[in-house]
Amino acid sequence: MAKDFQRLEIKRSDFRNLFEILKDRGFSIIGPTVHEGVIIYDELKSVDDLPIGWTDVQEPGKYRLEKRGDEALFGFTVGPHSWKKYLFPPERRLWQANRQGRSIDITSEPLPKTKYAFLGVRACELHALLIQDKVFLEGDSTDPYYAQIRKNSLVIGIHCGQSGNTCFCVSMNTGPRVSLGYDLVLTEVLTSSSHSFYLEAGSEKGSTITKALKAPLAPRLSDKTIDDIVQNAVAGMKRSLNTDGIKQLLYTNMANPRWEEVAQKCLSCANCTMACPTCFCSTVEETSDLSGDHAERWKKWDSCFTSDFSYVHGGSVRTSTMSRYRQWMTHKLASWQDQFDTSGCVGCGRCITWCPVGIDITEEANAIRLNPVAER
Ligand code: SF4
Ligand code: SF4
Repeated sequence: MAKDFQRLEIKRSDFRNLFEILKDRGFSIIGPTVHEGVIIYDELKSVDDLPIGWTDVQEPGKYRLEKRGDEALFGFTVGPHSWKKYLFPPERRLWQANRQGRSIDITSEPLPKTKYAFLGVRACELHALLIQDKVFLEGDSTDPYYAQIRKNSLVIGIHCGQSGNTCFCVSMNTGPRVSLGYDLVLTEVLTSSSHSFYLEAGSEKGSTITKALKAPLAPRLSDKTIDDIVQNAVAGMKRSLNTDGIKQLLYTNMANPRWEEVAQKCLSCANCTMACPTCFCSTVEETSDLSGDHAERWKKWDSCFTSDFSYVHGGSVRTSTMSRYRQWMTHKLASWQDQFDTSGCVGCGRCITWCPVGIDITEEANAIRLNPVAER
């Protein structure tokens, strides 16, 4: 438990009080909800918008929802969306220009005033947020939009009580217990006869919410209950990625034939990069109206899997799917360490589930480890 912050217990019937307090404080609550057969992140108006009683079944290239047989609010793992959708939106106008006679007025897009409460952030996703902080807030140039949304948001984590079939957070040391980067953290405690939540603050911002809730303290044995819940997720994790010496392994295996093998399957569709919570590549596009009096510049998500992304001086540097897949995986697991002093992968498994042909980053990394090419 975070120092100086007390752990509270909220009955399921009182969980809506958390929503009311967040709304009273001007937060727009963003969290998981079912949409077209998938759990996505969207604005939640009430507790009823959560995926009550649903769970997700994931495999490489496969995803489906099933009923759980209980009324759990957070009984699933992660879907195709990540929180970057709100901090680093898929497309955003940067400025507009209007011709006024012989001059041009340029108007920058104002920074948003929205205050988001991100509800149900998993441990791996918190690590992904901290990785994107390094990208957008700690470099030579910072992103003011990201900085503004991040500063105004409240992050409510949740300890995972089950793992998905494509998760591998334990081997990446990013979960399933929420341990850092949260304002509040929830544990869903569901038994055959009771349903409640533990809630504890991890920051002063979070503690203003717990104080307003006026809920009773969690029972004395709540530490053990949380340990058991998290251990259930650990025990169910089926995948792992051996990260020992992975940087050197990948740097010395640029010529490994495995890259060609995976390229035979890869569609270069970029789904993995869109779903990944840490991928941050973007492009800018300018548009103008037919009169030429109005122009706009937009920032949009891009991907190292597109040929335009590596277009330099009249040609693309990475013309083959092999070179694009190798670039993506080597960046995630190796050169990201040089660039940001951390892995670029948090083991969420999204790229495995949402790859239409089921390519599995853990399988690819393990295959290179098993059959490395001779180092020159
Ligand atoms: S590379 Fe795949 S498993 Fe790793 S963080 Fe990105 S989507 Fe998740
Ligand atoms: S690895 Fe899968 S998701 Fe990624 S570009 Fe290739 S086919 Fe698409």
